[in-house]
This record gives sequence, C-alpha cells and structure tokens, in this order.
Amino acid sequence: MASYKGHLAFAAPLGFVYGGMASSQLGMDPTTAMLGAALTTVGGLLPDLDSDSGVPVRELFSLAAVLVPLLMWRRLMNANFSDEFLFLFLVCVYVLIRFVVSRVFKKLSVHRGMYHSIPAMLISGLIVYLAYHHPSAQTRLFLAIAVMLGFLSHLVLDEMCSVDFNGFTIKLNKYAGSAVKFFSPSIVGTATTYLILIALGYLAVLDVERTMGTELLPASLRLAPSSAVKPL
Ligand SMILES: [Zn+2]
Repeated sequence: MASYKGHLAFAAPLGFVYGGMASSQLGMDPTTAMLGAALTTVGGLLPDLDSDSGVPVRELFSLAAVLVPLLMWRRLMNANFSDEFLFLFLVCVYVLIRFVVSRVFKKLSVHRGMYHSIPAMLISGLIVYLAYHHPSAQTRLFLAIAVMLGFLSHLVLDEMCSVDFNGFTIKLNKYAGSAVKFFSPSIVGTATTYLILIALGYLAVLDVERTMGTELLPASLRLAPSSAVKPL
C-alpha cells in the first residue's frame, strides 16, 4: 500500500499533465484546467478515506466538506434561493460531511473494501458530474474524468506495489489484487456500491437528457412521463 505522500506525489503530477494537455491540446480554459488538475490530485487521495490512519483522513473529510459545497455553487445559484438560505445550506452541507458522514463512513467502511474499487471510482466521477452545474457538458465531463483519473491512479498504485517515496523503495504489495476490483467478499458492501452506482448513473442520464433536450432512456425505465423531460 502506497503511503499518503506516495499517492500525492503520483496524483499531483498526473493532474498537472492532464490539466496541461486539456489546456494546450483541447483549448480548455486555464482556470478550468487547473481545477481539473486539483481534482485529479484529490482523487488520488480519495480511496484512503476508508483507512483509519488519522490525520490525512480527517484532512480529506475537511477538504471534501469544503469542495462539495463549492462544486454545488453554480447549481444553487441557478435555483434562485435567497442569500441567507444559501449560506445556511452551505454551512449545513459542511457540518454534515465533516462530522456526520465522516463518522458514519468510518463505522461502515472496511479498509480496502468496496471503496477501493472500479465502481467506487465511477461513483466519484458521477458525483462530480452531477454536483458541478455548468452549461458545457464537456467541462463537466472533463472534471468528472479528472477525479476518476486520480482515483484510478490510487487503485493502480495500491495494486502494484508498496512505494516509499522517502526511501525510494518499490516492492510487491502483500495486498496485491485487492484494489483494482469490481467486487469484494462482502455481499452487502458490493450490493450497496452497485445500488449507489446505478442510482447516480440514472440521475446522470436524466441530467444529460435534460441538458441536451433528448431522450436516452426507454419509456419503461422512466419514473415520470417523458413529457417531464424539458431543457433548463
Ligand atoms: Zn489505498
């Protein structure tokens, strides 16, 4: 298992390259490219939210408590809430993630369980895609891929080797085979992860339909009549 510093040292340059290429090759706005680079870096640390190793995990939940309200900012601004309601809502989201979600997560998660898996990586991308409201689907996709890229780098690094960046030693990991996976021995953990993935995937498809004004889902999979799909 690579260390916190090891993951940071791997994900940060990866984010730099990802953001740099998007800016230079695809003409992405530099600020958005930098946001993507930052999300790749954070994504590279995310899977270890399930570890009990103290400070980095607390830091990560603090970071998530700030980042999630920021990602939701555009969406909330579009909803025309009053300033007071917005402020209260953002404070509530911060407190909820920092103190409630972090404790529940710690109780429920097992280190190297389903949180270290490919479906969890997809969930992280879907959360970013859904939370970040932007007129450009390309920008939202860019940011969703950014966090998934970082997440994947973490899984691969965990899977491949134990990297000690202080001593520059690389050796085969005794946990090899437990990070880049689709299922865990826990049926409940696996089922819960896939249920979350399906629910978020469904919301993402509805979101794409709404923003693009097209229908992707068959009528049998709709909870509401298709006439409810209308552009924002
Ligand atoms: Zn890990």
